[in-house]
Amino acid sequence: MTSLATKLVPEVVKNLIPYQSARRIGGKGHIWLNANELEQSERYGESESYNRYPDFLPHVIEKAYLEYSENVLGGAALQCQSLAVRGADEGIDLLIRTFCQPGNDQIIVCPPTYAMYEFCADSIAVNTVKVPLAEDFSLNVEAITPYLKDSKILFLCSPNNPTGNVIPHEQIVALLEASKDSTLVVVDEAYIEFAPHTSVVNLIAEYPHLVVIRTLSKAFGLASIRVGFLLADTSVMDYVARLIPPYPIADPSALVAKKALQEEGLEAMRRQADELVSIRNWFAEEVAGLAFVEKVYPSSTNFVLIKFSTDDCLYQYLLQKGIVTRNQAHDPRLARCVRISIGTRNSMQETLDALKEYPLN
Ligand code: PMP
Repeated sequence: MTSLATKLVPEVVKNLIPYQSARRIGGKGHIWLNANELEQSERYGESESYNRYPDFLPHVIEKAYLEYSENVLGGAALQCQSLAVRGADEGIDLLIRTFCQPGNDQIIVCPPTYAMYEFCADSIAVNTVKVPLAEDFSLNVEAITPYLKDSKILFLCSPNNPTGNVIPHEQIVALLEASKDSTLVVVDEAYIEFAPHTSVVNLIAEYPHLVVIRTLSKAFGLASIRVGFLLADTSVMDYVARLIPPYPIADPSALVAKKALQEEGLEAMRRQADELVSIRNWFAEEVAGLAFVEKVYPSSTNFVLIKFSTDDCLYQYLLQKGIVTRNQAHDPRLARCVRISIGTRNSMQETLDALKEYPLN
């Protein structure tokens, strides 16, 4: 039976012959002169082989990530494939470039949500249909369904940035059922470690048109190494892997990622995530008690979205105090809202003190 991915993928991608790196077809040898590398170089870091290209596809960390997903986050992750990418952002871009053609195709997003889905679509002239979240930021499944048949990809984000809420499992299943013959469903789980039981990765076995996006930038605290993962069925991954530029993960990043995915690294991540959740809950409760705060939205992430009852969203005020937050005022749905990442207890105490000092008149 033809997979949905094969039905959706444009002819150009179907006919693409994947780039063959010199490393991949090199075979065995003791003198390597096939990749235009230098045989010697200066030593700048831990590695002795910065002169050599890294793995064409870093299978070791891809396998370690699948095992982490299977053992720690639950679900039948081992039945699917993982692809290491240069941060979740590259994953988003790759999915759009693999399945959408400029000028012809469209994706669906549900704002307010992460801006990169629309940005990446725009960058190659792919249309974006916007089906806004409801007033309480829940997903409007009935409003999405009519657009499925004419859209290549539905992007969902759970927990969602910037609203912080999780999409209920039943809604994702309902959309997976409705999209079986027409649309890939991508669930961006960048913040999943803060709500691990809500992962939908186990649904890939039943719904091979589901793709899950992950990253080491958030709970793992490794934003600077630029490592993320796509988790998907082979039928989808076969095409996406054709498009990824070779050597996606630089050696120093692969080394750190490997350590982070070993037992010790995972324990440290879990400890850090638990501590962060407790700081978040304390901060959210304190902020909710301030007279000029209309609402602190419930969060399953490492940030909180705050709506003020003043005209101002307090972004400028906090900035003057040297506290840099994310102004959401550009989005009319988020007027008077600011998104604050949760930092250390000290940083959050200082932020709280600054808010308490806000002159009301
Ligand atoms: N998805 C979401 C929902 C995000 O909030 C972010 C980062 N802000 C990303 C993806 C990108 O993550 P990465 O650093 O892995 O590119």
